[in-house]
Amino acid sequence: MPQIKAAVCTGFNDPLAIETLDLRAPLAGEIEVTLDAVAICHSDIHFAEGGWGGDLPAVYGHEAAGRITALGDGVAGLALGNRVVVTLIRACGTCANCAGGRPTICDTPNPGPSPLSRADGTSVVQAMNCGAFAERVVVDQSQVVPLPEDMPAEAVALLACGVITGIGAVVNAAKLRAGEDVVVIGAGGVGLTAIPGARIAGARRIVAVDMSDEKLAIAKEFGATDGVLASAKSPWRQAHKALGRGADAVIVTVGAIPAYNDAPRYLGWGGRMIMVGMPHSGAMAEYEPVMLAYMSQGMTGSKMGDVVLRRDIPWMTDLYRQGRLKLDELVSGRWSLDQINDAIADTKTGGAKRNVILF
Ligand SMILES: [Zn+2]
Ligand SMILES: [Zn+2]
Repeated sequence: MPQIKAAVCTGFNDPLAIETLDLRAPLAGEIEVTLDAVAICHSDIHFAEGGWGGDLPAVYGHEAAGRITALGDGVAGLALGNRVVVTLIRACGTCANCAGGRPTICDTPNPGPSPLSRADGTSVVQAMNCGAFAERVVVDQSQVVPLPEDMPAEAVALLACGVITGIGAVVNAAKLRAGEDVVVIGAGGVGLTAIPGARIAGARRIVAVDMSDEKLAIAKEFGATDGVLASAKSPWRQAHKALGRGADAVIVTVGAIPAYNDAPRYLGWGGRMIMVGMPHSGAMAEYEPVMLAYMSQGMTGSKMGDVVLRRDIPWMTDLYRQGRLKLDELVSGRWSLDQINDAIADTKTGGAKRNVILF
């Protein structure tokens, strides 16, 4: 069986351990991708901290780019050598949700055992259907989209999670119309793509809310028209002042409960809150139902930007190639797999952008 180097979580909150694992060959409908790049997402860190439970040992990593190096039987529309983005969105294509155009909430449970194991035969969890903190992955064919050869691997990797989540939250979940006003809470990896998403969708004003002045300045580079410090007293009043009214949509891109508690306060009549950031399991938020009812407001969860990979990735790619969507500028650091714990520590310090592991 082929062997790969992977960063393995053996205990929550412990550093990841670089191990040599066995990766089985792709089964029917699966492909093997040899990775060029994988970005570190806050979801990987939440998992490694035990915030969402799950079995161990496990390999995290789910924002990846690489080339197809093996094909299982019955794979359609993909070929050896294709440059692909690898996502965690595994969709059967035939359940009611997939058939209804919502593959991010595919109803079909994942089949079969993990493709990863140790030399002694112990199974290793392929977290988030990817396990991409590794030199190679075996994934379902629904999880990848072929991309142009001339795109840098880092930019391709970013399309796998943060970018589709942020833009999708605005375009697919909030269904923003030209001229509407948006507040984006959190100017991190997802917020910095929700902001250009709002711009692409034709927002009038885009207010970024974050804890740091530095991140608000970066948010403006990515298209925010106004910045509000979350630490200010009643920050929503400042947003209302900037907009001259309540927002039509507030996109919550961080998993912090205070952000969720405040979010509806940014909204005006008929506004909607799009819930993207994921707090730890069991964390509860508070809101005032009477206000939402009286003001005809909505709250909607949005997993992975409600994206349809083969519909949305190609147009986002095109916008990147036209210079209308910044991806290269989202990369803050480049690391090797051996340096992954340092890269994770750097991400935890709250830097705005993405750290990427290059192979
Ligand atoms: Zn992610
Ligand atoms: Zn399905």
